Amino acid sequence: VSYPNVCDRCSGPLPVSTMSRFNTEMCCMACIDKERAHPKYKEAEEVEIRQVRAGNYNYHGIGKPADL
Ligand SMILES: [Zn+2]
Repeated sequence: VSYPNVCDRCSGPLPVSTMSRFNTEMCCMACIDKERAHPKYKEAEEVEIRQVRAGNYNYHGIGKPADL
């Protein structure tokens, strides 16, 4: 298994990787902070929780908003 060392979204360095809530990109904290501030973040989080509760662990997110 090889771990990515650049952010999928901004291609910046990735000391700590966190998966986006909008899709399956591995993002740096700066990008995660940006998506947390997006108005659709709450919706993405709620849909994900519902999917996981329903047993759908292959859920890939609602998709990255075009303006993120
Ligand atoms: Zn980034």
